[in-house]
Amino acid sequence: MASKLALPTDPPLPERLDRHLLDTVGVVPAQASTGALSQALSQVARAELSRRWVAGEQADGVAKARRVYYLSMEFLIGRSLGNAVAALGLEGPAAESVATHARTLEDLQAQEPDAALGNGGLGRLAACFLDSMATLGLPSFGYGIRYEFGMFAQEIHGGRQVEYPDPWLADGTPWEFPRPETTHRVRFGGWVERAEAPDVPPIWRHAGEVMAKAYDHVVPGHATDRVATLRLWKAAAPAHIDLHAFNSGDYARAAEFKNEYENISWVLYPNDSTPAGRELRLRQEYFFTSASLQDIVARHLAEHGRLANLAEHVAIHLNDTHPAIGVAELMRLLVDEQGFSWAPAWAMTRRIFSYTNHTLMPEALETWSVALMQQVLPRHLEIIFRINHDFLLEAGAQRPGDADFLRRISLIDEHGERRVRMAHLAVVGSHQVNGVSALHSDLLVHTIFADFANLWPGRFCNVTNGVTPRRWLAQANRGLSGVLDARLGPAWRRDLGELRRLAEHAGDPALQADVMAAKRQNKARLAALIDRETGIDVDPASLFDVQVKRIHEYKRQLLNLLHAVTRYRAILAQPHAAWQPRTVIFAGKAASSYHRAKQIIRLIHDVGAVVNDDARIGGRLKVVFVPNYGVAAAELIMPGADLSEQISTAGTEASGTGNMKLALNGALTIGTDDGANIEIRQAVGDSNIFIFGKRTHEVAAMRAAGYQPLRLYESNPQLKGVLDSIAAGAFSPDEPTRYRDLVDSLLWGGDHYLLLADYEDYVATQGRVDALYADPAAWARKAILNIAGMGPFSADRTIGEYAERIWSLPVRS
Ligand SMILES: *Cc1c(COP(=O)(O)O)cnc(C)c1O
Repeated sequence: MASKLALPTDPPLPERLDRHLLDTVGVVPAQASTGALSQALSQVARAELSRRWVAGEQADGVAKARRVYYLSMEFLIGRSLGNAVAALGLEGPAAESVATHARTLEDLQAQEPDAALGNGGLGRLAACFLDSMATLGLPSFGYGIRYEFGMFAQEIHGGRQVEYPDPWLADGTPWEFPRPETTHRVRFGGWVERAEAPDVPPIWRHAGEVMAKAYDHVVPGHATDRVATLRLWKAAAPAHIDLHAFNSGDYARAAEFKNEYENISWVLYPNDSTPAGRELRLRQEYFFTSASLQDIVARHLAEHGRLANLAEHVAIHLNDTHPAIGVAELMRLLVDEQGFSWAPAWAMTRRIFSYTNHTLMPEALETWSVALMQQVLPRHLEIIFRINHDFLLEAGAQRPGDADFLRRISLIDEHGERRVRMAHLAVVGSHQVNGVSALHSDLLVHTIFADFANLWPGRFCNVTNGVTPRRWLAQANRGLSGVLDARLGPAWRRDLGELRRLAEHAGDPALQADVMAAKRQNKARLAALIDRETGIDVDPASLFDVQVKRIHEYKRQLLNLLHAVTRYRAILAQPHAAWQPRTVIFAGKAASSYHRAKQIIRLIHDVGAVVNDDARIGGRLKVVFVPNYGVAAAELIMPGADLSEQISTAGTEASGTGNMKLALNGALTIGTDDGANIEIRQAVGDSNIFIFGKRTHEVAAMRAAGYQPLRLYESNPQLKGVLDSIAAGAFSPDEPTRYRDLVDSLLWGGDHYLLLADYEDYVATQGRVDALYADPAAWARKAILNIAGMGPFSADRTIGEYAERIWSLPVRS
């Protein structure tokens, strides 16, 4: 892309670095600390990003480009320095100039706090997407909330998770560009006043308002001058707020008022799978959605002078239902504020929005009580009722007399307390709805959206998730990247399909040696991290068996643990057998109110405490938990894994992206036929992956037939022994009943996620893993075939599909 800005020629990088040390950071270059160097290098990158952003905005403005706006409550960005330096092509010179200060780039990167504005997969997906949107040259904005406190920091005290606030902005960040001139008013509460004339929109007499102030993060594309913008909104009290209290000297009271407004952008809800059910969460959703839509409308008006062609130039994507209130908000902006009549406004709205569903689990589908919405967003509730009224008329005409059908599809759930179904609002207000893996998208149209799919079959499609190869391979795994560069050249960074060319060399001993040498180094680095964080000594020659993801019952960390205990007991029973040494590595956070998940974290620690110190097993099994899982930890863990645990109950994991990152880094997968595991199996070949367990239809059939976990327990002595030992306190001798209720939940509580049903196959499959690992060449060959097959799981492929099928945007790259 030709930049239309006349840029001054820059001095060489060492000079720029020293100049920033002196001018911006305020230190003597020769005495700069690691932190000061990190800041100065960030400033060098920031200046370049700033120019690229300005050039891109100018070019898009002149071209009156069609843009995509990606609305997401979460962006799990991680650190920015390493990514920026690589994307700007500054790695070589940066490393050299940093070396003159006796530091490495890694030292500088480690200074940066993780920007953890998300919980897990959904938020990380949004961050990977921005990277790909920039790299593919899409005119694009991400929109979200500038949380003062991101995802909590996790510490482990006495085997238990303790949560600490994450003040990631406490020392400021070099990566944001405050845009004080970009501020929007977001209103709440009050009542709606009918207009006198029939065609005049009603007036919303709001009760309060808050200002949304824009802060931009510039996201560089790789090997292109294009950037994407992540615009995050901070809540600020309006200037006039209780001036009276302030003037009369009551500062505390004035500050209290201010806080009531500003708390909207204070903290990320530490839970992405259940509605927090609280008013503040609804306010957060509306706050950032309204600010974003006002911003989009203002930008369009500035560029085009009219809104009639809005749908030609704007695509708005809803990342899950958190921003689904946007459907009603755009109608309000068009009808109440811009003078559109209902029908054309609705036609535009439907063309503009699209929606991604991320879960089928009923407890995770967002609804808001009508009473709460009446109180917080009275005008939006009216608009939702009108949309629903029209929709039910339209749908009812297709199936006359079918009241049950109408009840099922209504935007309002009328069972008990009336509630607004946000997923239904998103489906009705969008022209395209997608799931995130082939299986998930198929289940969507056969389960929760079956009625809608009957009405509008063309509205539903699949776009399988992906991950950015820049962060998850080039940046996280320099060893393997070097091997790939030597074999394939550097093009895989932008065209991950290039990896396919490795397949024909999978049997080449030289390639195997190189790949496994890189793996061994990454394992040594991971072992050092484990030692630092936990004090546990693990052997990099052992098989590193890794399960890293949020702790949740459906992800079945407990099944993994049952296997670990099985193995422990088996080694004790046959201490002289040739056991393959293993290190079972867990990491992940439990939502602070999720008791069962926290109990599982504690059990992992309790099992580790017994197993790791038992001299009888001679170090052939270790169980470790790496605290504070986040993007930075993931970048260290993924490259060091041999085995990737993806063992959710079939039909519960929408896609997974951790599975992709691990396979891309040469881990073999042990997994169920679930989410994107299925597509990974197809891409790498059945013989290069360990698939076990009940499939989705079998899970459904077992549940329908009346699943009986006790029978499995009674009929499998190995399983019985494991559960009995946990229940009897073998791993909690100081409190023998600690896990009684956990075991009871499996035996008597229905074992909702069917751990016992999959146990036997899982343990047997782990045996096959051992056997393969004992043959290093066979293992290396399969690891290479996994890497070779990962081309389709680049987020570039994913975003290319969104751009073409859903957003109608040309990909230029
Ligand atoms: C990729 C990623 C996830 C998602 O992991 P899954 O295994 O797909 O659940 C969660 N958290 C972080 C920090 C990640 O990088």
